Amino acid sequence: MNKCEVKEHWGIVYVPDKPPFPLHQQPTVKVHAAVIDPKHANTLVRKLNQILPLENLRHVKRVRKQVLDEGGIRLSMMLCLADESDDTQLEIIPQEIVDLINLYKLETFITKVCKYAPISKEEWIEQSKLWPTSYHPPTYNISGITGFSEEESLSVCTFMKQALDLSKCECQIVNAAIIVDPSTNYIIAHARDQVNSCSCFINHEHDVMVSCLNPWQWCNENSSSCSWHPLRHAAIVAIENSSERDRRLFPGSGLDESTDHLEHDLMLKKQKTECVKKEVVDSQSNNSLTELTRPYLCTGYDIYLVWEPCAMCAMALVHQRVKRIFYAFPNRKTGALGSVDRLQGEKSLNHHYAVFQVMLPQEKNPLINI
Ligand SMILES: [Zn+2]
Repeated sequence: MNKCEVKEHWGIVYVPDKPPFPLHQQPTVKVHAAVIDPKHANTLVRKLNQILPLENLRHVKRVRKQVLDEGGIRLSMMLCLADESDDTQLEIIPQEIVDLINLYKLETFITKVCKYAPISKEEWIEQSKLWPTSYHPPTYNISGITGFSEEESLSVCTFMKQALDLSKCECQIVNAAIIVDPSTNYIIAHARDQVNSCSCFINHEHDVMVSCLNPWQWCNENSSSCSWHPLRHAAIVAIENSSERDRRLFPGSGLDESTDHLEHDLMLKKQKTECVKKEVVDSQSNNSLTELTRPYLCTGYDIYLVWEPCAMCAMALVHQRVKRIFYAFPNRKTGALGSVDRLQGEKSLNHHYAVFQVMLPQEKNPLINI
């Protein structure tokens, strides 16, 4: 975990792809494995990678090589996942693997491998005692993972302060989202949760109506004084506003409703490389003429959220190709980026963003000030 202290005791904490575990208590999963003849190793690896690639165990090496006390080596191969509760059940092995076992006359056994990729050399050494894994130090160069510059830390704090201000109105506290292009520090879009409270009156206390904290509240009939919306969470509305901005700034490059999905993708890819000149009206740029490329969704953008998003919002931000997510408060019950789940570590997804929690000085916490 990388922590960067900034002025007024703000801090930016990286939320890693997997929960932290003690070095000697790495979580494991059971797998079916078999001792193999070394001369079949290459063929079997190729066939297994075609039949069953094991996306979530990419960090685990398919073959384990052991040097035997009596001399010589023994090769074992990981075949497929085993049932966690009930071992030695051959029938849970996929048929293609069973065919391979029969063809090569393999003797299977159940063993354990580490569930998560190592995040340090120490973890890698520890994990490899069980079954070899690969360790790749982070290669993606997302500014912040190895430390924010002072200038960038101040930008992060400034945008988070704006999100906090946006989250408060006279009688409600809701989630707020601000999408920022970090290459220019322009605000692309902002939004609040679209919930309505009918219980506003003088001296009424703030209603905390954060949609991501209560994703099912809209179907609760008892909340008659308020109306929660199942979809219009701050992040979703901000994405919608960002798309609206694209349509406004790049008219004519919009997509026809009838365009099918394939054409849709091709057109977006083409637009990604298009460069046009537009007059940009932006609160921070004062009508400047700027050369702009139509963004591909939210590629390269950051989003600031007051509360950690729920699964729906976190997934929408994957689809939008957001680069980094900053949130101030964890969402203990339904948070998808550290509290309950870690979508940023889901290997089967085709996009991964970096996630940070912005630690606020106590007096900036709106739940303390109200
Ligand atoms: Zn949400």
